[in-house]
Amino acid sequence: MTALCHPVVFACGFLNCKVVFKAPDTTGPAKTADEYFNHVANHVQANHNWSYSTYFRNLMRQPGVDDAWKNRSNKGVKLRWQRHTSSVLREILETRHIPDVGLFVDWAVKLGSKPFCTPTSPVPTGLPDALYLPVLKHCEYGANSAPEPPYQPNASPGSPQVPDSLPNRSADFDFSAYPAPSASI
Ligand SMILES: [Zn+2]
Repeated sequence: MTALCHPVVFACGFLNCKVVFKAPDTTGPAKTADEYFNHVANHVQANHNWSYSTYFRNLMRQPGVDDAWKNRSNKGVKLRWQRHTSSVLREILETRHIPDVGLFVDWAVKLGSKPFCTPTSPVPTGLPDALYLPVLKHCEYGANSAPEPPYQPNASPGSPQVPDSLPNRSADFDFSAYPAPSASI
């Protein structure tokens, strides 16, 4: 499996939440990730619903993208993002490897619209060269290319709500598999 650059932005994806956490680029993201998982754990405990589309939208609330998003030309269109059609853009947002934010926003709109916005949508082709998967060994972004140990969420004893199997890429977290607290009582 190809190693991707380390995520430095962690968005909440629970419905009606607009929180996004951004790690300082020069330090490791572990502390920010801890804050993020604590935040998520509170939602899980409250039995809220996770939505990938909300997650993707909240990733765009990060500095540097938020303004461009709010000032986009084609506002008012209802958008919905799917995991399988927006994965490259999602990785770009998580790593903050955004070379051309205007181009990025155009494609975020495109991928949130027909024909890419349904669970059975085709995988998009023809993504511009500037929007590519942030592969670690080809990384041109110095701040995120320095070698660092893989992020291990289990290393934090302060996050009791985080399940053992929590993957380190937050969008892959399967919240539906997480048992609802006190569900059987
Ligand atoms: Zn939240």
